[in-house]
Amino acid sequence: MKPFRYQAPGSVNAAVEAVEPMGIAGQGGAFLAGGTTLIDLMKLHVLTPPSLTDVKNLGLDTIEESDGEVRIGARVTMAQASEHPIFVERAPALSDALWKAASPQLRNVATLGGNVLQRTRCPYFRDNVSPCNKRDPGSGCAAIGGINRLLAVLGTSENCIATYAGDFANALILFDATVETRTDEGSREIAFEDLHVLPEDHPERETILGDDELITGYRFQLPDWARRSVYVKARDRESYAFALASAAVALDLDGDTIREARLGLGGVATVPWRAREAEEFLQGKTVSEDTALEAGRIAFEGAQGYEHNTFKIPLGRQVVAKAILDAARMDLSGAPNSSGTSEGAN
Ligand SMILES: Cc1cc2nc3c(=O)[nH]c(=O)nc-3n(C[C@H](O)[C@H](O)[C@H](O)COP(=O)(O)OP(=O)(O)OC[C@H]3O[C@@H](n4cnc5c(N)ncnc54)[C@H](O)[C@@H]3O)c2cc1C
Ligand code: SF4
Repeated sequence: MKPFRYQAPGSVNAAVEAVEPMGIAGQGGAFLAGGTTLIDLMKLHVLTPPSLTDVKNLGLDTIEESDGEVRIGARVTMAQASEHPIFVERAPALSDALWKAASPQLRNVATLGGNVLQRTRCPYFRDNVSPCNKRDPGSGCAAIGGINRLLAVLGTSENCIATYAGDFANALILFDATVETRTDEGSREIAFEDLHVLPEDHPERETILGDDELITGYRFQLPDWARRSVYVKARDRESYAFALASAAVALDLDGDTIREARLGLGGVATVPWRAREAEEFLQGKTVSEDTALEAGRIAFEGAQGYEHNTFKIPLGRQVVAKAILDAARMDLSGAPNSSGTSEGAN
C-alpha cells in the first residue's frame, strides 16, 4: 500500500475543509468510514489517495424520527441499522437488505455512507492490470469479451457492464429518500435515485457527488404500508455472497388489489435500479402468480445479456415474482419479519 496521511477531524466543517479529493469527480472524496471497500482497493493499488479523512468523529451515527420522517446518519453501521426497530418493524426490506449483505464482522464496521458508495466487484477493475474504463478511462473493457458472469444486464453501455454491488441502496430507493451532503461551500440535497449515474461514456464517474463531497445522511418518510416490504436475494451461496439478482418490493394492498407497488432491483444493473414500468403495471392488479411473473418480465424488458450472464434475466424475473408474492403474503399482525425470506445463516 502506498503511504498516505491519516486525519480524523472533530466536526463536519473541519472534515470538508481538510479532505483531499481522490481526483476523479463522482467517486467522492477520500473519506474513510469502515474502510472495508476503500482499504481493500488501496492494498490492491486500485486507489491511491494521498490522505484519508476519517468520518468517525463527525456525529453522523444516529437514527432519528421526527414528524414522520426518518433520518439516518451516514456513519451508522450496517449492523446498527439492520437491528433498529424502525427498520425491522416498519420497513423490513431495509433491515433484510442489510442483514443479507456481507458478514457479521463486516456489518459491524461498514457504514451506510460507505455501503451506498461501495465500488464494483468487477474482477478486471480490481486486478489493476486488465483494460478497464472505470479504473483507467479510455483503456477499454476487459469484461465485455471476458468472464462476465457476475456483471450487469441492465443499464450497461459499450464502455462498461459493471454491476452495482450493494444491497441496501436497492431497498432505500423504494422510499424516495433524500441524500444530504456537505462540501466546504455548503450543503445540498440529492434525490437518492439521482445519486448514481449510468456508465454511458464515463464509467469512471459513478455518482453525481463532487470529489470533495461528504454524505452526511439520508432522509425519508415511511408510509404505513412500508411494513409490507421484503428483500429477496439470489446468490451462489446463502451467506456471505453478493447478489446474482435481488429485488426489494413494497406493496400497498387493498385486500388482494395492489394500490401501489415499489420495486428495486440489485445484482443485475449498473446502478441501484427502480423498475418503474413494472410498478405501473402492478397498480390496480389483483395479486396472483401470473401478475407477479408478468411484472418480472416487464422489469427485465430491454435487458442485455453477455456471454456468461444471460442466466440473470430469467433468474431476475423469478426473484421479482417471488418478492411480490412474499410481500403480499406477509402477516402484518405477527412477527416483525414475517416475510419468510430470511431463513439461512448469515
Ligand atoms: C467479502 C465481502 C463481502 C461483501 N458482501 C456484500 C454484500 O453481500 N452486500 C453488500 O451490500 N455489500 C457487501 N460488501 C461490501 C461492504 O458492505 C462494503 O465494503 C461496505 O458497506 C462499505 O462501507 P465502509 O463504511 O466500510 O466504506 P469505506 O470502505 O470506508 O468507503 C467506501 C467508499 O465510500 C466513501 N465514503 C464512505 N463514507 C462516506 C461519506 N460519508 N461521504 C462520502 N464518501 C464516503 C469512501 O471514500 C470510499 O470511496 C462486501 C464486502 C466484502 C469485503
Ligand atoms: S465492466 Fe466496467 S469495471 Fe469491469 S472491466 Fe469493464 S469498464 Fe472495467
